[in-house]
Amino acid sequence: MPARGEFGLIRRIRGEKARQGVVLGIGDDAALLRPTPGMLLAACVDTLAEGTHFLPGTPWADLGWKALAVNLSDLAAMGARPRWATLALTLPDGDPRAFLGIVRGLRRLAAHHGVALVGGDTTRGPLALCVQALGEVPPRAALRRAGARAGDAIYISGVPGEAAAGLASAQGRLAGVAPADERRLRRRLDRPEPRVALGLALRGIASACIDVSDGLAQDLGHVLRESGVGAELHASVLPASPALRRAVPDPDARARLALAGGDDYELCFSVPAARAARIDAIARRLRLPLTRIGTVVARRGLLVRDAAGRRMALSRAGFDHFA
Ligand code: ADP
Ligand code: MG
Repeated sequence: MPARGEFGLIRRIRGEKARQGVVLGIGDDAALLRPTPGMLLAACVDTLAEGTHFLPGTPWADLGWKALAVNLSDLAAMGARPRWATLALTLPDGDPRAFLGIVRGLRRLAAHHGVALVGGDTTRGPLALCVQALGEVPPRAALRRAGARAGDAIYISGVPGEAAAGLASAQGRLAGVAPADERRLRRRLDRPEPRVALGLALRGIASACIDVSDGLAQDLGHVLRESGVGAELHASVLPASPALRRAVPDPDARARLALAGGDDYELCFSVPAARAARIDAIARRLRLPLTRIGTVVARRGLLVRDAAGRRMALSRAGFDHFA
């Protein structure tokens, strides 16, 4: 990007309200941060590329929001408290509306979680946003993918499948969705809400945890593999919202969206039976549905049962009943 444009834009995003732990923010060659003594740093990074991760024409502010949200979701899945973020932006031209819109959307979500944008990089090229997030977690408190044991209850937060329904409806693959439902589902796709408070609440309670970005079946599969166990899920107890029920009335199609859709950014976690009673209180306090969808079993692999108790076959693309 022409130097004057680039530096002019960066000047306009300097001067964020002082935040704890930020000794020096945007404007020098690197940010200077003060981690809380005794805490572990949790670091993650995720890229959103046009065409792969979002539809062309997605509002700039939504892109900024989502680029941070997917990272805060990773920190949430670790039980980490998010603190700082950097943003590497590749923009096709020096359009200030794009740059400032992205930063505004990102900062909107950052403010909800007390996260400071402390630096980044701005270059010209095909549209892509790469956010790195840093958070903190006490030693031994991190939630890991490994740790699920046979007998643990398996939970999912929120309503998996809504974002996938939002994508399907935006692409014209769902017929007759009411405009209000379409807006709600599309919002779940464009403005996911990372479950940061839930991740913090699950410290010392969950035996394993992952955030669901590639579909519940696949992401739960990572937990099972890392933990050396299997699971039985019940498709009929998967949560659904009124909007999702109306947009996708067929329960099998809904289960397919929940199990094999993507972009949910919900937390899937296992809890030892002795601690499962505490989950309801967390759900009430956070006003977030936490649904028990199955049980960890010793036999490896993921088994999903339909409402009639029949076994469903899962494939990468979804699942089919099999005789
Ligand atoms: P350098 O050339 O030394 O890497 P830059 O000119 O790229 O520095 O960046 C100047 C300052 O602006 C740095 O503090 C950097 O972190 C910040 N910055 C650049 N681009 C962004 C961006 N997209 N978002 C946030 N901060 C940015
Ligand atoms: Mg430099």
